[in-house]
Amino acid sequence: MEILKTKNLMQQWSKARKKKDKTICFVPTMGYLHQGHISLLEKGKPLCDELVLSIFINPTQFGPNEDLAAYPVDIEKDLFLAEAAGVTAVFLPQKEDIYPHNFQTKIFLDRLPSYLCGHSRPIHFGGVATVVTKLFHIVMPDVAIFGKKDYQQLQIIRQMVCDLDFDIKILGGEIVRESDGLAMSSRNAYLTADQRESALSLSRSIQMAAAAIANGEKKSGVIQNQMESFIKGYPHTRIDYISFCDPHTLESVDIIDRQILLALAVHVGKTRLIDNCLIAPSQ
Ligand code: AMP
Repeated sequence: MEILKTKNLMQQWSKARKKKDKTICFVPTMGYLHQGHISLLEKGKPLCDELVLSIFINPTQFGPNEDLAAYPVDIEKDLFLAEAAGVTAVFLPQKEDIYPHNFQTKIFLDRLPSYLCGHSRPIHFGGVATVVTKLFHIVMPDVAIFGKKDYQQLQIIRQMVCDLDFDIKILGGEIVRESDGLAMSSRNAYLTADQRESALSLSRSIQMAAAAIANGEKKSGVIQNQMESFIKGYPHTRIDYISFCDPHTLESVDIIDRQILLALAVHVGKTRLIDNCLIAPSQ
């Protein structure tokens, strides 16, 4: 496994592989790897000749009051896990290399970033789209894999790749959960034991909603009220949003008469957690 610490080295590596007609699969991350990340690497491993992982805590996707400075880091463990997952190259850039002095270009999408997490994180998806564009140009992958845990992010990347004619196949990986249902996240490391229990309110409220929909409830407002009461019953929780929306446009849906995306964000203590599920109405 090669470790490439500058964008020039990474690009040279990719160009050399391309010259030999090797295909490249790419999994971008912010590190502190868990089984959710590993599942994306496992999905990608058989698809291409090379498997590239990037670890970069992208400062431009964090708002001023978010957790950039506190974001957990364990590069040594990440490299160990990456090698075990069959990664052939790790891209580990410095932020000055990605955002040199006088950097001033941004990728802007008209609609998708305005929904869901976009309300409370107005600069987030612009930062994501911009860094992913740069990473795509540096790594030059044939296939890139993103987790459905960050469903809105995945939709935005798909839209951007389509709109800007990137010749890259985008795949989504299923959400990997702890045995009690909590979606795995590097941010789960922030939770105290009490908060860890309250964090279960996200996946449990989704299950509750899925059961209500299976029982024939079609009004998203009714289910949303039930979910709000349920989540508020757990200490340390503060709901950011609960959204029943169209899985493609992310516009909210009042009557559940087709498959919808149920997505939510909840602050548990100081940690903001997200979860989601695609749910179809009962026939
Ligand atoms: P992050 O390091 O949080 O930026 O995540 C890197 C990639 O891993 C993103 O595409 C995430 O959607 C994906 N990911 C994070 N957590 C999970 C999870 N629990 N299951 C599946 N994919 C995940």
